[in-house]
Amino acid sequence: MNRVRPVPKKGSTLHDYPYATPGRKCPHFWIINVTPPGPSHCLHHCLYCYAQHAIYSDYSDDTLVYNNLPELVEKDLKRIALCPPISMSNTSDPCQPIPELRAEVKRLVQLLMSYGVSFSITTKGDPGFLLELPGFVHYRPKFIAVTIEGTADITALLSPSALTFEKRVEVVRRLSGLGIDTLIRFDPVFIHLFQAVYGHSWFDKIEGLIDTFAGAGAKHRVCSTGRLSKKPVYPAHGVGDSLWQRVLDVVQAHSPAAARCFQRDYCYQRGGTSQGYLLERDLRLRFHRRLRAVVESRGMTYATCQELGAQECDSEGLPHCQRFLLPFAGKQSDGRFKAIEGCAANCHISCRGLAHPPCGQPKLASPQPFKVSYLRGGRS
Ligand code: SF4
Repeated sequence: MNRVRPVPKKGSTLHDYPYATPGRKCPHFWIINVTPPGPSHCLHHCLYCYAQHAIYSDYSDDTLVYNNLPELVEKDLKRIALCPPISMSNTSDPCQPIPELRAEVKRLVQLLMSYGVSFSITTKGDPGFLLELPGFVHYRPKFIAVTIEGTADITALLSPSALTFEKRVEVVRRLSGLGIDTLIRFDPVFIHLFQAVYGHSWFDKIEGLIDTFAGAGAKHRVCSTGRLSKKPVYPAHGVGDSLWQRVLDVVQAHSPAAARCFQRDYCYQRGGTSQGYLLERDLRLRFHRRLRAVVESRGMTYATCQELGAQECDSEGLPHCQRFLLPFAGKQSDGRFKAIEGCAANCHISCRGLAHPPCGQPKLASPQPFKVSYLRGGRS
């Protein structure tokens, strides 16, 4: 294991996803990364991970962990009147088994709860350490998303250093049993890898997975078939394969025929919120609709992550693709925040055209990333 080195984060963390087109599906979020992006800062090393090679990646050999986040975040909470929901760590897993990182995440979550703001955590690790925080279990609004990209065979190929499949399902069971809003990200699902490993029974395996998830108490499932780049990634020691090539290689190792289909079916596409090599659109739509029917028949809801519009394949009646409401919160006279009633944070959909949205800030009702100046006004 690399040496762990706590470092201060410089500058504010207050920023949104970069998506700006009407095809945006993500609500507005304040993204707080607990490490820099870069291959040494997430121990999972998932085969398909683009965040390890993001534009501002740090390629040092040490595992860097930010050690001043609560102080930085509190500074921003003091200067805004409207607080977006917070998405914790999109560049690395915030529940990795690194004691320094978990201590910092605990401090941060404690701060968010003391201010009364909305937050979500996405992980392939064990968030059990957060249950030690007084009030965490019943705190709302929050949700936890557990990423499980397939069966035990598939997760062993794609994310072998994260928690095992069985342990991730156990995490879902434990959190759901405690009444914590928990969803499963089936993301990314590479259908050719399922076909390579399971042959003609590949979709039966997926149906079996859905039964397992329903049995663990999950209420919602977000799915994507992945977006890959053919650009070589740059690990610390020289040029590496592209993410597309890595996935192809693992499919090829199990079935050359499935690998040929993967090469044919993952085509370059531009549109919506992103570009890259995606599963061909008709195949994608057919797969998602088939899967949605199975998921809904087991009493869960379903949505796709970005790659299809909500009206094309998401379960009806969802406020956004992640199901659980994480509203903006408005500052109260004591400096704490309170969730805004009637807010879904999906501003350009739920408040489109409203002169007086519940938050009091009509400038938010756009797919553009929020500007900090919008958060200073609004209601108080
Ligand atoms: S009330 Fe509407 S515009 Fe305001 S933050 Fe919520 S969703 Fe966005």
